[in-house]
Amino acid sequence: MLPVANKQELMRHFDDWVTDREVSFAAVRGFVDNPELIGQRLLGKYSVATTSGSTGIPGIFLLDTLNWTVTLAFSLRMIMGWLNASDTFRLLVRGGRAASVLAMGGHYVGATSFAAIRTRRSARRLRALPAQAPLRNLVAELNRYRPALLIGYASVMALLAAEQDAGRLHIQPVLVLPTSEGLSQDGYDRIARAFHVKVRTVYVATECLFVAIGCEHGWYHVNSDWVILEPVDASYRPVPSGEESHTVLVSNLANRVQPILRYDLGDRILQRPDPCPCGNPLPAIRVRGRRHPHLPNRTRRESRSATARA
Ligand SMILES: [Zn+2]
Repeated sequence: MLPVANKQELMRHFDDWVTDREVSFAAVRGFVDNPELIGQRLLGKYSVATTSGSTGIPGIFLLDTLNWTVTLAFSLRMIMGWLNASDTFRLLVRGGRAASVLAMGGHYVGATSFAAIRTRRSARRLRALPAQAPLRNLVAELNRYRPALLIGYASVMALLAAEQDAGRLHIQPVLVLPTSEGLSQDGYDRIARAFHVKVRTVYVATECLFVAIGCEHGWYHVNSDWVILEPVDASYRPVPSGEESHTVLVSNLANRVQPILRYDLGDRILQRPDPCPCGNPLPAIRVRGRRHPHLPNRTRRESRSATARA
């Protein structure tokens, strides 16, 4: 069995870890230190995403073409699985416009992904809004743009729901996808009520952008064609279904340039022992606690300051 890997160790052995000899830690470091290169490809081949250093060591992750192909397929399957015929019709009527509220100003995965999927043809249907912007600017921009899909930090989605309730924001999205931090069920319900909309979530990390898709029964279904999740105890021994794990090991089967194999993600999960009532046959999990938040500290602080302004 392969040994367990973690971020500290992989970052320490970066040059041995990457499978492309053209890539070096020194070159990648220089790339991420340059904000002008956000969304560009390293050596014309790899997207680069960083994770916060709140756990001691910042992570630098390279995303190759196969990784993006699987991420895109996952996103389409996710959206098509969530929408019924009437939702799809409403989505098309709104020109399929999507707005994503992202942390900008760093090589964070949201901004990197946005740049990777945005093409000249899709530019009018995709808009990125900085999560750090004053709330009233976000509201004004969204009122102008009228997105059919609204994606972004859960805390910002909650603020926007309050703006919609107050009548300052007046958009009619078909789907809202809060990301990053988890909200309470009540928080998600409030967003659903404010926008009269379906609210769905995903379980992803910079290390693997397609782990699991949330269903209407509050479970995440693991994308097990491309991801292996192993719930384990503190000694990395397997934990059976129905019991909460200490952490979880993730293997991302799509990333060839920087293999993520049995990587300690740091989250406690619980796997459902019986079939999920939604009918999805893929393994169903709940995420009980994220030991290592994947949200950049900066945005967290700024989300809070947005709360204060609201
Ligand atoms: Zn389900």
